[in-house]
This record gives sequence, structure tokens and C-alpha cells, in this order.
Amino acid sequence: MSPDLSALLYLTSAVCFILALRGLSHPETAQKGNVFAITGMVLAVGTTLAQPRMLAFGPIAVGILIGGAIGIAIALRIQMTALPQLVAAFHSLVGLAAVCVATAAFFSPESFGIGTSGHILTGSLIEMGLGSAIGAITFTGSVVAFAKLQGLVSGTPLNLPLQHPLNALLALGIVALLPIFAAAGQASVFFAIVALALALGFLLIVPIGGADMPVVISMLNSYSGWAASGIGFTLHNALLIITGALVGSSGAILSYVMCKGMNRSIFNVIFGGFGSAPGIGGSGTKREQRPVKQGSAEDAAFILKNAQSVVVVPGYGMAVAQAQHALREMADVLKHQGVQIRYAIHPVAGRMPGHMNVLLAEANIPYDEVFELDEINRDFAQTDVAFVIGANDVTNPAAKTDPASPIFGMPVLDVERARTVLFIKRSMATGYAGVDNELFYRDNTLMLFGDAKKVVEGIVKTFG
Ligand code: NDP
Repeated sequence: MSPDLSALLYLTSAVCFILALRGLSHPETAQKGNVFAITGMVLAVGTTLAQPRMLAFGPIAVGILIGGAIGIAIALRIQMTALPQLVAAFHSLVGLAAVCVATAAFFSPESFGIGTSGHILTGSLIEMGLGSAIGAITFTGSVVAFAKLQGLVSGTPLNLPLQHPLNALLALGIVALLPIFAAAGQASVFFAIVALALALGFLLIVPIGGADMPVVISMLNSYSGWAASGIGFTLHNALLIITGALVGSSGAILSYVMCKGMNRSIFNVIFGGFGSAPGIGGSGTKREQRPVKQGSAEDAAFILKNAQSVVVVPGYGMAVAQAQHALREMADVLKHQGVQIRYAIHPVAGRMPGHMNVLLAEANIPYDEVFELDEINRDFAQTDVAFVIGANDVTNPAAKTDPASPIFGMPVLDVERARTVLFIKRSMATGYAGVDNELFYRDNTLMLFGDAKKVVEGIVKTFG
């Protein structure tokens, strides 16, 4: 394949990736976005395989077959609630790949056209050093994030003595070694950079609490993009540079959006705090013994049938219970009876951005019934029923009223303004942030205890 044609195909592939990102920004266009992404990737891989320097198709075919089979098996079996840890695991592979490519380029520069052994171009040495350092940080950081989210190790933050000075020392060590490596190109310096970066990735993520882990994953996503981009320079591959930069910047933007949704600064996430407060990091902490009003599926069905407007607020519990299809069924019955149904999505409801949108789309809930926090928050005051299904933190008024609360400042859905608030959850346990929710004890709240799917199915049954 001529260099001009391959440049054109790489450019087309890069445009496909940009269109994919654009498509994925809205549920209605997400499928189209995925088609663009697949097309871009097929073009990218095909063009790479057609390069004149491509000598060994056998090992590549074996790699694609094994990797593809593993990928398909995982995609078919993975639960939606386990996606964050899967993403973390995938990022670790991107980081590892960056380190492996840099190592290969260092020991066989001739194959990469970047010089000869012991005489590698200075620019390439810089790219290699940077790419492998970011890759190594991404690798160990992602492995720790995966282990925490998968429950292999505790999600509670592990604060080591002198942690921040130690991290700073490691980072300074890497920064100091990079120019030495660029000047001398010694293998020992290369491996020292990789070793320091591996340690830094581990130590950076270990102290971060479970509640902040999704932001961390998004940040690691960003790092993996920059690592790939750095390696793109080593390989003289424009597409890898562009794609890496796209992943790097979109991951950084996503981290920013998530931090904004939680009203936290990115530095606060990286350097701990939220995740380290007592009681934070998991559902399950029972806080208060005050009386609450408890209702049955029949009570809920009666209230819902007599309402004119209902706003559904889904949260993590809906994902755990996989209650979205039952919810759709319930909404259909109510709509049939003339009740207005809308859905309010908080930017950090669930455990990953867009989590609730994906579940509602899966149940074919019309997009025009789904509203973002800013679009719907004012309407709660004119709403008969706020139907909170498995959500907790995203409704907690402490975020507005209690400066001592760890979620203070996070924008929340004003469900308490609705005439009646129905809360479906299994117990009085707290949500991810580990803080009690004052709303459970209010006069206009009715608690519907039970698994979200079972409770909603019970309501639908009562409708008859
Ligand atoms: P929460 O974690 O606050 O609450 C979920 C509630 O669901 C729990 O209180 C739990 O109570 C209940 N629940 C669990 N399983 C079930 C079930 N099977 N049936 C019924 N209820 C169930 O979730 P929210 O969505 O309200 O808030 C998300 C939290 O995650 C926020 O703190 C946010 O900051 C954090 N977060 C989200 C990110 C994102 O990108 N989405 C990123 C980073 C953090 P019980 O055990 O009593 O049933």
C-alpha cells in the first residue's frame, strides 16, 4: 500500500473515531456512533496490516483470534453493574501494551526505523520514556482500581505514612530520569523509569476510596490515551497519535464532568478526602432509628393511579435489581390512564456516567420522557409523585443544607418538593457516600422496602 493511500485511510479512520465520539454523546445517536467506531477500527487495523513492513501475519492472526474470543466471551457475560471494573481491566492492558511497545522499540530500534541499537534518535527516546512511564502508571493504577471495584481488595482507602511526599519523590525521580535516558539511552535508566512509574501508579490509586473510583477510572482512561499517543510518535503512526489524543482528552473531560456532578475538585479526588471519611465507601451503614412511614405495593399503586404527574428518579439500586423493564411496564399502565410520566436523571446516578440512560434505553423508555437534572429540577414543586427507585445520595438534601456533609455542594434532585415521595429500597441503609438521608423521615415520604424489581412488579400486579 502506498504511503499516500495509507495516510488517507488513517485520516478517514480518525474522522470515524471523532464521529463515533459525537454519536456516543446522546442515547439516540449512540448506535450510529458505535457503527462509526467499528468502521474506524476495521479501517485502522486493515491499513496497518497492509503496510509493506508487515512481515508476520501468523502471530497477528493468532493474537486477534485469542483476544477476539476472550472479548466476545466477556461482552456476552458481563453484567451492566460490573462495567466499571471491566473498563479498569481494559485500561490496564492499554498501559501494559504501551510499556511493551516501548520496550520492543528500545531493544529493536531498526524494526521501528528509529535508529540502531545504542544509537536511537533522541526524540524517539523521549517519546519512549514518556510513553512507557504513563503506560506503567496506567497499568498498576488500573489493576488496583479493578481489584477494589471487583471486591478483591477492600474499597476503603489505604493511607500510608508519608504517602504524598513519597508520591512526589517518585514523580520527581521519573522527571529527573527522563532527560538522562534521552541523553544516554541506557537500558538500566529505561527500566528504572518503568519501575518508578509502576510504583507510582500503585501508590496513587491505593489511597483513593471506593466512592471516587469511577472518576479515577475515567482519569486512567485519559492516561491510557496519552500513553497510546506517546507510543504513536515512536511508531510514527499518525492514527495512534490522533486516537490516543482523542481518548486522552475525552477521558479528561469526562473526569471533569463527573467531578462537577459531585461538586468535587479533581485534586480532591486524586489526593483523597471524600473516600477517606468514616462511613464512606459503601451501601450498608445503618445510621438512625427514627420512625419512618412504610407502605405496601397496594398503597403505592393507589397513590400513583390518583396522581396526574409522576417523576421517576432512578439510581444505582435500579441497576442492581435490573428493574428497568418492570418500571417501563408500570409507566405504560399509568400513561394509559392519563398520568404524565417523566424521568429525572442525575449526572452521577448509578456508578458510571450515563448508567441510568443506558438502562432506560434498554427498556425502550422514550428519550423525550427523560430529563437531565437542570431541565427538570424546578418541576418537582408541581409534581404529584416523585418515584425514587434505588436512588439515595442524588436526592439527599444534606447536599444543600449541611456544610459538614461530605456531599455538601453536590447538586441534587429536589424530590422533597413533590407532593408525595415514594422511596423504593431494601432497607434504611445509606448510599455510596455513606450518609443518612433526611428525606426518609419526612411526612410526605413513604418508604417501600424491598428489591426494586419485586416492588415494581407488585405495583403492576395491583393495577390488575
Ligand atoms: P446510591 O449509592 O446513593 O444509593 C443506591 C441505593 O440503592 C442504596 O441506598 C441501596 O439501599 C439501594 N439499593 C441497592 N440495591 C437495591 C435493590 N436491589 N433494590 C432496591 N434498592 C436497592 O445511588 P445513587 O444512584 O443515588 O447515587 C450514586 C452515588 O454514586 C453518588 O454518591 C455518586 O456521587 C456516586 N458516584 C457515581 C458516579 C457515576 O458516574 N454515576 C461516579 C462516582 C461516584 P438499600 O441497600 O437499602 O437497598
